[in-house]
Amino acid sequence: MKTLRLSMLMAASAMAACLAGPAVAQTNSKFDARFISYPTYNGNDLELSVTSDATNFRLWSPEAQEVILNLYDNGRTGEPYSRIDMKADRSNGTWTASLPGQLYGKFYTFSVKSDGKWLPETPGVWAKAVGANGKRAAIIDFSLTNPEGWDADRGPEVKNFTDVIVYEMHHRDMSMDPSSGIANKGKFLALTEQGTTSPSGQKTGIDHLKELGVTHVHILPSYDFNSVDETNLQDNTYNWGYDPQNYNAPEGSYSTNPSDPSTRVREMKEMVKALHDAGIGVIMDVVYNHTAENDGSNFELTVPGYYHRHWDDGRYSDASGCGNETASDLQQMRDYIINSTKYWAEEYHIDGFRFDLMAIHDTETMNEVAAELKKINPSIFVYGEGWTAGDSPLQTERRALKENVSKMTDIAVFSDDLRDAVKGHYTDAADRGFATGKPGNEETVKIGIVAATAHPQVDFSKGNNSKFPYATSPEMIVNYVSCHDDLTLTDKLRRSMAGEPEKNMLDAAKLAQTIVFTSQGTPFMFAGEEVFRDKKGVHNSYKSPDSINAIDWNNKERYRDQFDYYRGLIALRKLHPAFRMTSADQIARHLKFDKIDSSKTPNLISYTLTDHANGDSWKDIKVVFNGASEARTVNVPKGNWKIVATDGKISPSGDLGSTNGGKMTVAPYSALILARD
Ligand code: CA
Repeated sequence: MKTLRLSMLMAASAMAACLAGPAVAQTNSKFDARFISYPTYNGNDLELSVTSDATNFRLWSPEAQEVILNLYDNGRTGEPYSRIDMKADRSNGTWTASLPGQLYGKFYTFSVKSDGKWLPETPGVWAKAVGANGKRAAIIDFSLTNPEGWDADRGPEVKNFTDVIVYEMHHRDMSMDPSSGIANKGKFLALTEQGTTSPSGQKTGIDHLKELGVTHVHILPSYDFNSVDETNLQDNTYNWGYDPQNYNAPEGSYSTNPSDPSTRVREMKEMVKALHDAGIGVIMDVVYNHTAENDGSNFELTVPGYYHRHWDDGRYSDASGCGNETASDLQQMRDYIINSTKYWAEEYHIDGFRFDLMAIHDTETMNEVAAELKKINPSIFVYGEGWTAGDSPLQTERRALKENVSKMTDIAVFSDDLRDAVKGHYTDAADRGFATGKPGNEETVKIGIVAATAHPQVDFSKGNNSKFPYATSPEMIVNYVSCHDDLTLTDKLRRSMAGEPEKNMLDAAKLAQTIVFTSQGTPFMFAGEEVFRDKKGVHNSYKSPDSINAIDWNNKERYRDQFDYYRGLIALRKLHPAFRMTSADQIARHLKFDKIDSSKTPNLISYTLTDHANGDSWKDIKVVFNGASEARTVNVPKGNWKIVATDGKISPSGDLGSTNGGKMTVAPYSALILARD
């Protein structure tokens, strides 16, 4: 999310606390202590359930004095046609009402009386369908929203999470530019269009994704968010969507008709189905860590105080940097996160979840999320940002921090180690990294290469960001050099390599992604980098217009060589399990670094994946990265080596020639990959 800048500082301070020994045990704030005694309710009939002959409502609000159900004919305007007093069930804190018949097509809100005053109406926290702008919940028949063949729809099977290749995209970025050739611009349906091309005939949209070869798309927030007026879509307002409003309904502006509650549901499912049919999984970016509107959020209008954390004096704590943070350590909120992700997995067949500012949640909640999702589909991949963007009342040792990832099962975290070391620090646009000629980052890049697991040849004390091997398995690490936050890789290279020919930047981009895609762990890339996409130098484009954010697909012809290289890299990784080892022990045994004195020969890393690592068909794979602006010479052992990558070219089958070893030259800003049977 947009506040990463702060979050990195927090990650650093949290790490310092970990290294200093166990943190002093704290209790949650005095203000929040009273909520622990609230009765909770975990039934799947919360707020709305429709049976063959009745429509039933059940709102959880333990301290409410009265609750009224408001029923409407319209999703946005007009007065309620009925107001119904709900009945309290004090044993579980819920309020119920039941009406005869199936009220499909109607809308509803709840009014809660708390501390003697009526709060503004709310659609509740479990609205699964909503009217335009999400102020009223809708009653729809979900069985009518399924695309043809939905019952048989399945995402790709994932054996190990290191097999996943993530492509992070925003719906508008992919399709808004006229060069996309896509009709449903900025919509869920954009990715259902086959055969779309750029003006010069390059594949775009879903055909482009298939051609590239990624296994999963990670879609930026696609639940109903607050910042785009769904009744005024002609304004083309852009937002990343990290401002959650209704967690369990799709965003209306991505549908072709936000006023019809079924349309967004059906169209999002059609997108999922089209991607699944193409063999591609769908990962949702989820932002349970905060709400957009503090007092005006559906959480506060339903159960004042409960779902957000506070300091002792009752102020909202703000580990999100967005005004508040939620309280996963309280049972009803924990169950909410678990049940919400389960709902998306079951109703929408979602294949993975990326947790924004995951360290605002506690490790226990995250473990339960992963365990429950695994029961639905063992291929579901869960990962997140292992940091916060501000201090929290939640004790450091309970936070789902990067440094605590080994306390979690089937959860991965983003590694900022490789990211900052390869291209230069994100807080300084001009800063260079390993791949752009700056010395001193070699050991941190090696931390990324071994997926932050303990390795006899990696000295974690020299790490820039992390000082200890925090992962106990490569399945805990997501490696990347850029994402929606901060400068795109292209913009970062243009700033940090200003004055150099563009060829050097293209070479450095290839080298940077070669490091990501050959490293252990799960690789992750930002949409469009395969066509050297930029954002005109804007580092925080969360509400910048499409003219900044949309990918210009003419770039695919302009930088076709770049695209072909990325495609080759992805194919190489998919063909060769040596790059996708599944345990720390395997990596320690089969990944051998060559001894290089970085003080004499900086920006050079060389290692070999040995002895058919992870069952690879190749016996040995030699990988050399030269991030210097000058060519380097390396010694390759004698043997019959195939050349897989050299001087900005790549061939997954090793068809770039052969060598018997000896002295070999590695071009500036490039990777050399060799293999022998
Ligand atoms: Ca919305």
